Amino acid sequence: MSECIFCKIVRGEIPCSRVYEDDKMLAFDDIQPMAPVHVIIIPKQHFSTLLDIDVKNINVAGDLIFAAQKVAKLKGIDEKGFRTVINCNAEGGQVVFHLHMHVLGGRKLHDELG
Ligand code: AMP
Ligand code: ZN
Repeated sequence: MSECIFCKIVRGEIPCSRVYEDDKMLAFDDIQPMAPVHVIIIPKQHFSTLLDIDVKNINVAGDLIFAAQKVAKLKGIDEKGFRTVINCNAEGGQVVFHLHMHVLGGRKLHDELG
């Protein structure tokens, strides 16, 4: 996936404001934040969408959730609350086709599900 923008971030070819990283996951500040805290969490392995998660790689879903917990704590929004979003395909609002979870917080979030 040499042209994928998030794979380029994983490889260090595009800079990011790193929030959290482990051997499987990377989290960085969204370049166009929609809330005071807006972090993108990605698996380092390329999956295009949520639909690529199946019984063989279901651990990726848990890893995303554990990373979201860590990000929320690191950003100090775990107690007050936050929102996680995974957009899937065009009508779901997905623009970058490398599976990612948004973590949004730092203000009262209203009904912004579209
Ligand atoms: P989605 O609409 O779910 O595909 O969200 C893609 C998100 O990635 C958007 O919120 C973008 O602002 C964000 N994004 C795109 N390029 C970058 C980048 N180079 N660094 C950080 N965030 C990015
Ligand atoms: Zn990718």
